[in-house]
Amino acid sequence: MYTLDTLPFQNRFAQLPAHFYARVRPTPLANAQLFSFNAAAAQLIQLDPREAQNPAFTAYFNGERAWEGTQPISMLYAGHQFGTYVPQLGDGRAIILGETQGWELQLKGSGPTPFSRFSDGRAVIRSTVREYLCSEAMQALGIPTTRALCMLVSDEEVYRERLEQGALLVRMSPSHVRFGSFEVFFHRRQYEQLKQLADFVLANHFPELQSTAEPYLGLLETVVKRTARLMAQWQCVGFAHGVMNTDNMSILGLTLDYGPYGFLDVYDPGFICNHTDQAGRYAFDQQPSIGLWNLNALAHTFLPLLAEDPDEAVEKARSALLQYQAEFDQAWLTGMRAKLGLQQAVETDEGLIADLLIKMQQNLVDYTIFFRRLSKLGLQANQSESTLRDLFVERSAFDAWAIQYRERLLQEQSVDIERQARMQQVNPVYILRNYMAQQAIAKAEQGDASEVDLLLKLLQQPFTEQAGMESYSDHPPAWADSISVSCSS
Ligand code: AMP
Ligand code: MG
Repeated sequence: MYTLDTLPFQNRFAQLPAHFYARVRPTPLANAQLFSFNAAAAQLIQLDPREAQNPAFTAYFNGERAWEGTQPISMLYAGHQFGTYVPQLGDGRAIILGETQGWELQLKGSGPTPFSRFSDGRAVIRSTVREYLCSEAMQALGIPTTRALCMLVSDEEVYRERLEQGALLVRMSPSHVRFGSFEVFFHRRQYEQLKQLADFVLANHFPELQSTAEPYLGLLETVVKRTARLMAQWQCVGFAHGVMNTDNMSILGLTLDYGPYGFLDVYDPGFICNHTDQAGRYAFDQQPSIGLWNLNALAHTFLPLLAEDPDEAVEKARSALLQYQAEFDQAWLTGMRAKLGLQQAVETDEGLIADLLIKMQQNLVDYTIFFRRLSKLGLQANQSESTLRDLFVERSAFDAWAIQYRERLLQEQSVDIERQARMQQVNPVYILRNYMAQQAIAKAEQGDASEVDLLLKLLQQPFTEQAGMESYSDHPPAWADSISVSCSS
């Protein structure tokens, strides 16, 4: 275990030449306080959790005290935002303090950087609570994601749609490199830097690819497959990211940059969680194809690396992209079969799943509640089944599907208690619904961390029914419909 003073730092990204980032110092928030601490993330860097009580903790993460051995930087990147190329973005409000034991510690909301353009470089309580809770919830759901060590709140006034309080998230990730990190050099025709970046990612995150015949192609294929699997996991759990711009796409296939995300309540494939996305570019059911669109933008940047002959390079990029669909389909079908408790793969399964999803949509069925209750269904009808069929406006729609489903279970001689146990490991009881985050934010804005801490604990065990927490596994309250989330954060 390390203390704050013994935590060993390096920063491999900061060893790259200067045009990859800007060296920056955090601007401390006024009167910052540690608001919530996540011991699970501290464990990843072997930081003694008792250090959360050390007054130096806030001083270090608020940038009042500089850590020996750290080389704080903000990364340069570009990106396609809502389909349009923006030639220069970069960490406008984030600073990577340094790296410890393979994890980059990034301050999000730590003040202006050379990439801030005309913004203040700050984050508010609202967005910070949302990212803090959701990244840890995703981790517990088994979905690749960046992590969160803690959040600070302050007295600093930050103006968004209204006056809000400045806050800061300490994010952790093995790498914060994005698709947009490659795009910036490709579009500037800085191919030497492009190659350096690819070599950096290979050496530090995919060393096993370095000795292969075509490391760059291997890297591209790996990102294609990881992204495909990530999209499948989002779709299976009912997560909508909300801003799938290429600058928010992780080269490691992690869920990155939690903004106006949302989990499905009723199953609505056209669900748009970001109210500024009126055209629905990033609607729930668009995510798999947007994942491919974004990979296409990334693959473009790989062309100079893949072959000298442009036609050959295009052919290689194309071959990598062609693996996306099969990888996604397979991961999605495997995920959905697991949600249904099916162990064998039968050709009719896709039809069975499609039929269920259509019925759920038509009958306004809550996605998470349905699968959790389905995890208790037996081969023989029993009393608890009524709570499942009551989710459907037309009960007969469920009954008709349940006949098919039970036949399918019999076909593989499914055993109730075994299947139910398996299903309860993949169908969560608790997800972070918007209203839950909203309640935690409202308290946080009053200086009360209790709901943030309670939700963190709850969501770190999403598959376990916890005593006294029944309301969190229930339908959202009616007022939840009025919550609107946007990019403004
Ligand atoms: P996002 O929509 O959060 O992914 O951010 C898109 C870009 O805007 C990134 O380059 C961010 O660093 C930048 N950005 C967002 N909010 C701020 C802010 N308050 N101050 C400076 N830059 C920001
Ligand atoms: Mg972003």
